[in-house]
Amino acid sequence: MKIDALIVGAGIAGSVLARKLAEEQGQQILVVDKRNHVGGYCYDYRDENGILIHKYGPHIFRTDSKEVWKFLSRFTDWQDYQHKVLANVNGHFYPMPINLDTVNQYLGTQYTAEDVEEYFEEHKISLIEINNVKDVIESQIGPEFYHAFFEHYTEKQWGLPCEELPPEIVARIPIRKNRDDRYFTHCYQALPKDGYTNMIQNILDHPNIHILLNTDFKDIKGAIESKHTYYSGPIDEYYNYCYGKLPYRNVTFKFETYPVEQYQPVSVVNYPNNYDYTRITEFKHFYPSRSSCTVIAKEIPSGGGYCNESAYPIPTSVNKELYRKYASIPNKKVTFIGRLGEYKYYSMDQIVEYILRNDISGRRKEKTDG
Ligand code: UDP
Repeated sequence: MKIDALIVGAGIAGSVLARKLAEEQGQQILVVDKRNHVGGYCYDYRDENGILIHKYGPHIFRTDSKEVWKFLSRFTDWQDYQHKVLANVNGHFYPMPINLDTVNQYLGTQYTAEDVEEYFEEHKISLIEINNVKDVIESQIGPEFYHAFFEHYTEKQWGLPCEELPPEIVARIPIRKNRDDRYFTHCYQALPKDGYTNMIQNILDHPNIHILLNTDFKDIKGAIESKHTYYSGPIDEYYNYCYGKLPYRNVTFKFETYPVEQYQPVSVVNYPNNYDYTRITEFKHFYPSRSSCTVIAKEIPSGGGYCNESAYPIPTSVNKELYRKYASIPNKKVTFIGRLGEYKYYSMDQIVEYILRNDISGRRKEKTDG
């Protein structure tokens, strides 16, 4: 078979790119993945109780891009879903992101939005420069809320002090003075009706796209002839760690089943200050389910290199510099894509948007959002 493009990794990046190249350019595509399933970190499956489980942690689809929404809607119907998160601090549940109710419940006050504004004004730390996670949070809401809700969660998640982590890590978490308790407020927010795996299978379902699962790129490298390779695995692994390992934060999921209707009030509860896990996800909240039992996953972050659990690039300036060294290795035959290939803390919609908008050699298409 003559292959135009070899795509390594059948996650969201590899799949959307495969569809784009097959559909728009008529290319013959081979997608290989070392796992026994497509979907990458978005992979989900139904367990024996019919509950849809996100194997690599909670994936909540949201976007402000009409283009991204329209593209994915060709491959799935959607289940309406508004993500709500609580933080368990000192044994009490508080709305997360921090909003008016969080402040009132935590301080035992009855502040209005204006009072909260005033409270934050009084307590926030004035800084000339915002250099890290601590600065971003303390400059908005002061040390007390930073210590209770952000400091330990962030250090547990990333394995580094907040002072060493860049502001962008928490930039996605707003601070609200109103009572909005949604985690995300994007124009579009939903879950694929039959799950992410089904949506990605549909994206890959094209006569020009061929898929090889259980196939490690290293084992077929020399055997497949293709004009170009798109690689969505870790860039340092591709280059045999020649400049050293890029650090990733791994998250291991501990699944537990309970013979109860409901384990916790919302799908995700964060545990910033206690336990070795950062959060517990209860999957039943995502889709309606008649099961009399429930499944939860505790997320336990750990250090070390990239492994087959969920992996987060750690975007410190030192690590980004090391990534740039890898990315600047001249290589006309390979393009690196996605969270691991680009060493970027991407959300799903950002990956899709990047692939749809770019010809991957860097030229931007006209913005088509309405
Ligand atoms: N975060 C925190 N406390 C929380 C929730 C989030 O300190 O209760 C910080 C933490 O550093 C986390 C980041 O905000 O890694 C982004 O949170 P998000 O829920 O978006 O993480 P993801 O779902 O990508 O793991």
